[in-house]
Amino acid sequence: MTAPPDWHAADKAYQLHHTTCPQCRAAGLNPGGLERCPDGAELWATYQQAGDPPHFTWLRKRRGGKKP
Ligand SMILES: [Zn+2]
Repeated sequence: MTAPPDWHAADKAYQLHHTTCPQCRAAGLNPGGLERCPDGAELWATYQQAGDPPHFTWLRKRRGGKKP
């Protein structure tokens, strides 16, 4: 087996960009409605490809999954 993807690094990189990029913040609030900027989209893709990290639970909740 290979080592698990370093989602901590991907998370950190994306969050850092996200905090400084109005376009990516808006896209995060409007899934499917707005697109992230090229830099943000690349970081986001890496972030998602890094596996299924624990912090993605917020995303599932927002998408209308099981309510707590
Ligand atoms: Zn951005």
